[in-house]
Amino acid sequence: MQSQIKRKSEKIINVGERYMVSWKNGHQHSGDIIDVRPLKHLRDIADLELDKLQNTDLEFYVHYPTFDRRLDEWVTSDRIESKTDGSEDIKRKRKMDDANLESNKKDDKEVVLLALEKEHEEITKVKNIQCIVLGRYEIETWYFSPYPEEYSGDEKMYVCEYCLKYMKRHKTLIGHSLKCSMKSPPGKEIYKENGLSMFEIDGKDNKIYCQNLCLLSKLFLDHKTLYYDVDPFLFYVLCEVDGDEFHHIVGYFSKEKQSQENYNLACILTFPPYQRKGYGKFLMSVSYELTKREGTTGSPEKPLSDLGKISYRSYWTYVILNLFQAKNFLQTTSMQDMSRLTGIKTEDILSTLHSLNMIKYWKGQHVISISKAAVEAHLVQMKRIRLCDPDFLTWQPPANTDRMKAKAVPG
Ligand code: ZN
Repeated sequence: MQSQIKRKSEKIINVGERYMVSWKNGHQHSGDIIDVRPLKHLRDIADLELDKLQNTDLEFYVHYPTFDRRLDEWVTSDRIESKTDGSEDIKRKRKMDDANLESNKKDDKEVVLLALEKEHEEITKVKNIQCIVLGRYEIETWYFSPYPEEYSGDEKMYVCEYCLKYMKRHKTLIGHSLKCSMKSPPGKEIYKENGLSMFEIDGKDNKIYCQNLCLLSKLFLDHKTLYYDVDPFLFYVLCEVDGDEFHHIVGYFSKEKQSQENYNLACILTFPPYQRKGYGKFLMSVSYELTKREGTTGSPEKPLSDLGKISYRSYWTYVILNLFQAKNFLQTTSMQDMSRLTGIKTEDILSTLHSLNMIKYWKGQHVISISKAAVEAHLVQMKRIRLCDPDFLTWQPPANTDRMKAKAVPG
């Protein structure tokens, strides 16, 4: 689209530049203009020339560099204030220079430059679907997802909550619902506890379902690149089950069938209507339970999102402190024992204990330094977290797989 919009006697707003932008709460924040388009009522006019439109006929897509991209939005020109300096360009240039300095090897340099290009490309992506209808919920989306072009726009997109097929019109969904024979995800039910159920789905056996799941979850995950090649992954989908045995999708996590790095989770998401109910921690606890049954330890794939980081830190803290309490505050508990009992990798345990100020470095060694009072003080502050109950998990690791062989490799 047009990169420069100039009009007589009105302020100039350029795509690619940074301005102060007013938020609805009255605060101002600096934002980068990523795209421009005519206002909705003008969009269907044929032969509309963007150049000839006034600022008041346009809206601008803004990314706020100091905030998460889920706050990116279309704003009208009255909310765009003064232009700020070109600090972003400067920062980007400096990053490029650093990449050149730090790396003498040509290949490394190319990798870094490619990564920067990709970062830039990600930042300049405009959210294509604004709102979806999933089951009884209407959900505002957070990020771009590569649905086919014809699904983009201001209209809502409709998703069957059982097979995850996506549709443009409500009428189509109604017709589909009459035909759709699914009441639950495909795959094997591996967990069932009053009102909750989890399914293990092999990306190879249920390709379309898993691809649809990836597209759907991308609307709420920023750094996800997997959409179509789902074969190497297993998907664990959590559902709330109603009185008529209909399974309503709550969230899921995915996992590589074989991970060189012992990652026990690739992506994790709780859909927005079900957030803040503890389901994220529940999903994590299942991922660690599977890891324990495989006889190994694991860690989530990096990098974690901003929300992912907070969530994991709080899960690890909760599990480790409860372990101390259950084990009657055994100072002698070794890092390896804790890792074995929880499935959490020692490096994650170490970083958690560091954050709690419960680790000291003494005579060249990490020493756990905790008191009963400190553990209790922390636990009192924490909300009770609902974890999976291993008694309801019917999953066993497949025999004789490479994953089982890999268990000899310590976490
Ligand atoms: Zn369906």
